[in-house]
Amino acid sequence: MNAPFKLRPYQQEAVDATLNHFRKSDESAVIVLPTGAGKSLVIAELARLARRKILVLTHVKELVEQNHAKYQSYGLEGGIFSAGLKRKENRHQVTFASVQSVSANLDQFRDEYSLVIIDECHRVSGEETSQYQRIIELLRQQNDSLKVLGLTATPYRLAMGWIYRYHYRGFVRGSGEEQDKPFQHCIYELPLSYMINRGYLTKPELVNAAVAQYDFSALAQDRFGEYAEKDVNQLLSKHKRVTRAIIEQVMELATERQGVMIFAATVDHAREITGYLPENQTALVTGATDLKDRDLLIQRFKQRQLKYLVNVSVLTTGFDAPHVDFIAILRPTQSVSLYQQIVGRGLRLDEGKQDCLVIDYAGNSVNLHHPEVGEPKPNPDSEPVQVFCPGCGFANIFWGKTDSESRVIEHYGRRCQGLLEPAEEEGAAGQKQRPEQCDYRFRFKECPHCGGENDIAARNCHQCHQAIIDPDDQLRDALKLKDAMVIRCAGITLSVAGSKLKITYHGEDGEELSESFDFSKPAQRTVFNKLFGRRFANSQAPKAFSRADEVLELQALLSAPDFVIARKQKHYWQVQERIFDYQGTYRKANEA
Ligand SMILES: [Zn+2]
Ligand SMILES: [Zn+2]
Repeated sequence: MNAPFKLRPYQQEAVDATLNHFRKSDESAVIVLPTGAGKSLVIAELARLARRKILVLTHVKELVEQNHAKYQSYGLEGGIFSAGLKRKENRHQVTFASVQSVSANLDQFRDEYSLVIIDECHRVSGEETSQYQRIIELLRQQNDSLKVLGLTATPYRLAMGWIYRYHYRGFVRGSGEEQDKPFQHCIYELPLSYMINRGYLTKPELVNAAVAQYDFSALAQDRFGEYAEKDVNQLLSKHKRVTRAIIEQVMELATERQGVMIFAATVDHAREITGYLPENQTALVTGATDLKDRDLLIQRFKQRQLKYLVNVSVLTTGFDAPHVDFIAILRPTQSVSLYQQIVGRGLRLDEGKQDCLVIDYAGNSVNLHHPEVGEPKPNPDSEPVQVFCPGCGFANIFWGKTDSESRVIEHYGRRCQGLLEPAEEEGAAGQKQRPEQCDYRFRFKECPHCGGENDIAARNCHQCHQAIIDPDDQLRDALKLKDAMVIRCAGITLSVAGSKLKITYHGEDGEELSESFDFSKPAQRTVFNKLFGRRFANSQAPKAFSRADEVLELQALLSAPDFVIARKQKHYWQVQERIFDYQGTYRKANEA
């Protein structure tokens, strides 16, 4: 039986990847497709190919309806189980359901299902964790080889991290080694740029905000890189004039546009914005909007009775108005995924639509085509950089900085994310062994007991399990001592005399400490190479130096420690510790 209409090549690839994966494995899998890629078609084709019962779960009734409609358009008959749609059918081979409704009626799902498909599956790790997990758990009781497939455009969320662990291109996600992920494998992924370049999506016309811009950079961020609503409101309340000017520009540019979506930073902000727009052409939708009102407003917007749709973040998923051709971003975000999702609202193809105007008034400076790094941006001028692992050759994407010739001069990566294939195909139990994450570290703390290299946040050595000295303790102890000196190292200078290399550490206030390494003595050479050679070029090219003058020649690429601790001897200060890759409570040199 052929599909009633042809899938696009990438949709077919996604379907094939799913079949291939589940033929070999029962482990959960994720497909990443950008907004507008036609996920519902992929779901419909998978549902059509399945022989046994399958359940398609989503969190909003609009998506239940959309996915169901696509499936019916194949001329097939599927059921809907959704209280919001007033239908509770579960007798069909394929059931499209809302997670809330299934969760509330678990006793009606006692049949054996072979596959659960979760649309917008990045929500699985969110507040509904227990709902999704309970359903999966229950269905597993009927069928212990139940397959679970997720689909999403945003596999990474600032507050949750990556939703899967292993990527099919051979790398792992996330820096925390023991993190639990709701899904195991990403089995297919397509970037937004592919969709735009192939003409499957409308071209975004990215314009720099001309009139005014907010500056959120001074606000404190939480550990996910997000701001507190209170802080944002406070900042915005001081900039009413800015908001007014922005909205005036939006209205001016909107005269030649069909549908305008405005993304506000907070609910208060959204209300303020709405106040500046023509009342009879504007809808405001927040999380608190009554669902019936919301449906009605969205309906009127889609029918172009309303021109402006203001929202905070409620309309980033499951909302589809192809005529939208102007996106105004007035909210801060550092997530490339979220940014892509916001912009994606305006990229659907529509008759007569040439492009979609995108203006970022929040100074996010997110590049739409950049890959998601998966960590909060460490500072405003960082960009994603490619860093090759000297161990396995994998091309990592980290936050970093480049010089005018695009060479990486600094990066914030800690551990290589490459996956190494296991040495033997089959494990003891006949099970295929998992590939392991490459152990090469770009930043590390050395274990004083066994010499093992550990993550800079590790408390115990991952090799010998003994406690690793906390650099904060080291610094605190040294600062207490009268005969100790601690400098915040701002840089190093070198000089060579014969086989001896002298390193001078410069503190930010002009203090100096120095030490010498005699390269004619193997033991001293080894110490130098362990400290400095290993970290050569941001650990991108570890090197074992054999001569002092060789070091001098390449000194520009040596890494300096963040702190140096010395103890007073009779006539000089003897360097005892050089703390590299410091992370802790003390301020580093030249930090605010
Ligand atoms: Zn590696
Ligand atoms: Zn150890």
